[in-house]
Amino acid sequence: MNEAEIQRQKEIKEAEELLFTGPQALGFAKGLFLGRFVADWAMPYPRVAAAQQAGLDKSIAEVRAYLDENLDPVAIDRTADIPRHVIDGLARIGVLGMTAPTEYGGRGFSQQAYCQVLEEIGARCASTSVFTNAHHSIGIRALLLFGTREQKQKWLPPLVTGEQLAAFALTEKEAGSDAANVQTLAEPSADGSHYVLNGEKRYITNASIAQVLTVMARTPVPGSDKSAITAFLVTPDMPGFTMLEPRMEKLGIRGTATGRFEMRDMAVPKENILGPLGKGLKVALTVLDFGRTTFGACCTGAAKTCLRLAVEHANTRRQFKKTLGDFDLVKRKIGRMAADVYAMEAMTAVTASLIDRGLEDYMIETAMLKVFTTDRLWEAVNDAFQIHGGSAYFNDSPLERMLRDARINQIGEGSNEVLTSFVALVGMRGPGMEFKEIYDTMFNPSRGLGKAWTAGMNRLGAAVKIPSVPVKSESLRSQASQLGRLIWRFNLSVNRALITYREPVMDMQLVQERIAGAAMEMFASACVISRLDAELQGGGKNGEAAAGSHRAAALFLRQSFHRIRRFLGELTDNDDEALLATANSVLGKNDSARLNGR
Ligand SMILES: Cc1cc2nc3c(=O)[nH]c(=O)nc-3n(C[C@H](O)[C@H](O)[C@H](O)COP(=O)(O)OP(=O)(O)OC[C@H]3O[C@@H](n4cnc5c(N)ncnc54)[C@H](O)[C@@H]3O)c2cc1C
Repeated sequence: MNEAEIQRQKEIKEAEELLFTGPQALGFAKGLFLGRFVADWAMPYPRVAAAQQAGLDKSIAEVRAYLDENLDPVAIDRTADIPRHVIDGLARIGVLGMTAPTEYGGRGFSQQAYCQVLEEIGARCASTSVFTNAHHSIGIRALLLFGTREQKQKWLPPLVTGEQLAAFALTEKEAGSDAANVQTLAEPSADGSHYVLNGEKRYITNASIAQVLTVMARTPVPGSDKSAITAFLVTPDMPGFTMLEPRMEKLGIRGTATGRFEMRDMAVPKENILGPLGKGLKVALTVLDFGRTTFGACCTGAAKTCLRLAVEHANTRRQFKKTLGDFDLVKRKIGRMAADVYAMEAMTAVTASLIDRGLEDYMIETAMLKVFTTDRLWEAVNDAFQIHGGSAYFNDSPLERMLRDARINQIGEGSNEVLTSFVALVGMRGPGMEFKEIYDTMFNPSRGLGKAWTAGMNRLGAAVKIPSVPVKSESLRSQASQLGRLIWRFNLSVNRALITYREPVMDMQLVQERIAGAAMEMFASACVISRLDAELQGGGKNGEAAAGSHRAAALFLRQSFHRIRRFLGELTDNDDEALLATANSVLGKNDSARLNGR
């Protein structure tokens, strides 16, 4: 085995340990890759539990009133600081501990309810939404999910009330996208009472204002020469902790304190280990799953603001004796923005509900949500900016700030490239394993036919059966059946890619991008159909506003179906060879560098 192959086997093993711990219910995304529409996870459209709705309505009203009165995003950006009184105010109205159980002082909100609150913050100020996410969505999440009862009782109450702030520290110089490559070491002391941490973390939101940090470090695996990542609760008053840069100067979300710190011979009691020893990567990725749903909510809020700003300007600014909104090229941007906003909201609600409803593995869906909403927000900001013309370019324009703020979203909490590849690879694993079963049995019939027969029947079943997308509204039948056919076609395309390329497909990111892109669009379309069906059945608003939003939904479906067809068509009709050959020569990679990134 060459070095690349050894590395790949290592990565596969790590991913398998991380992701596939036992039999699980078939999720929505994994179902898509098997040619199935697992309706139960997306339909009916999720609603916040009736018992929680009144509390949520009250909280949203309170949050809106507080933000309107007290939040000044322009000042936060200019001074590169979120004033303490704003943090205290958010704490007072419960935002900093909203999903924590009431016994620890939280409000016990579901993830879906919390997303609705965060959308309000995201609509106004990205610095404040990223600060809140870093504290609540990821900062205290590991404690909430993996903390023992004693740890929760000890650490949570002051964090939930905002008396203390939290941060989540994974990233290091050598561990950015490659999160598993954490180099910070945690050596157990001779008496086993504590661990000694050495290492440096960078780009950590809230690091210099947090009193509690969840830090990922590498611990030895007992009885072997290997090491694995473990999560530790760290406080900055521990001897050996030094803040090297409390507020790194940056382009956007300038109000957040993004820090760099080191730990030198820093003793951390063993009681501060969060979750099982050596399972820190699982802890980190689970935490980030939650972060990605609130990310989706914040991007949805910001995209709604872009749409509002674009509409206001298009209706008032006159050129050529017309308002800008009279021009079709402006209308195209606004129509698409409205369609995307509808889908972003629906996808956020459905994804958050997967967590609330106890689906065990929602990693693909949260990754899809993150990529989809961050990309769409970037387009929305860009389009709103363009509609505002020169006026957007000056720093008294909210769009100038929003453009700078939105750029981090496609990089942070897993870059969109890494997540796109992840979606395709984890998704394809299901049908890939069935094909492997069939191949292995073909070449070694003594294994017995049982599993291969089941796998063959599954593959054959998906190839001949168009999945049904159940809707209640007559007017949605056509879109539902188009989506069913696209899922069927998607499954054939995935099968073809697996049969044609076999294992090397794991390195073919251009193929993966199309497969993941189609899957994301199908997930978004399913969420849109689910939401629209519920609204048409009377669960939503009526009148002109409702008609407008239903038009946006219908437009989204048309455009999304076009994109799916394009992704699938380009799997066989593309410029990949020429593109990769050009990139290879520009990169100075010799001709023997194989195509398709292999
Ligand atoms: C403002 C800000 C706040 C942050 N807050 C936190 C925080 O609170 N906690 C924390 O732990 N981290 C935080 N981060 C770190 C963030 O998560 C990382 O920046 C991110 O994971 C990317 O890592 P990197 O910057 O090292 O980029 P790299 O890993 O060097 O990647 C650079 C680019 O290379 C490409 N790329 C990388 N790998 C692949 C691949 N496999 N396939 C294709 N393309 C690839 C992508 O386009 C990527 O954007 C923050 C970062 C910023 C900028």
